[in-house]
Amino acid sequence: MPELPEVETTLRGIKPKTEGHSIQSLIVRNGKLRWPVDSHLTDSLPGQKLTAINRRAKYLLLTLTSAKTGAISHLILHLGMSGNLRVLPHNTSVQKHDHIDLLFDNGYMLRYHDPRRFGAFLWTDQPLDQHPLLAHLAPEPLSDAFNASYLFQLAQAKSCSIKSFIMNNRYAVGVGNIYANESLFLSGIHPTTAAKKLTKKQTEVLVVNIKQVLAKAIEQGGTTLKDFLTPDGKPGYFEQELKVYGRENLPCSICSTPIQRIVQQQRASYFCPKCQPKK
Ligand SMILES: [Zn+2]
Repeated sequence: MPELPEVETTLRGIKPKTEGHSIQSLIVRNGKLRWPVDSHLTDSLPGQKLTAINRRAKYLLLTLTSAKTGAISHLILHLGMSGNLRVLPHNTSVQKHDHIDLLFDNGYMLRYHDPRRFGAFLWTDQPLDQHPLLAHLAPEPLSDAFNASYLFQLAQAKSCSIKSFIMNNRYAVGVGNIYANESLFLSGIHPTTAAKKLTKKQTEVLVVNIKQVLAKAIEQGGTTLKDFLTPDGKPGYFEQELKVYGRENLPCSICSTPIQRIVQQQRASYFCPKCQPKK
């Protein structure tokens, strides 16, 4: 599944040839995504200029400005379970699962490909910070607003496990299952520890590790940027060096104790019983 680092890499990959260009047309071959693609968009998007692309959590936010009226609106894109976006010349042949093309006046198009069709291609003319998908999101994990004081204060009233706490996008965004496992290992915190039992010091260490794990993944993603411009590339997902995730029964990289696997909220948790003692 594309996680925050893959979405950030997608943003950097598609930005150079799309931002600042005007939309020529929209082709929707299959609009049955998580929510149906609004049918009026094929008429209303042409003539709009893509004035900015940004990311919020795992959403890509495309700011559109009307050439006629100057009115601002937005496309909210999400890659779902299996989506990717690439920038290709207009005449690139269509492959299976290429559901949407957004054609620009510079000869390039943004092509949305999604075998499982669980992604989103939504439009709104309302303020983004009040949109139901975005209004309740926690601060960006790599921003200063996501810090130990913030997380520690929130955790005080939460008896859920620390793992489900950091995976809840009301408290932290971008911490998918792999990143939660890796961050907790690096912090020496057992994944079932109650959020409210974390000490201030543990919270400080955890926040640093969440930021580092995500930053490192984004850095690794940078090597895949060229794939966003090739029809056969597989952008949006990349290899990572994992210390615990998927390593059941393999020796811990620190103490050689076999890594254990449990299931929490239907998601696999991997941990070292020695380095991450249960409290
Ligand atoms: Zn260990």
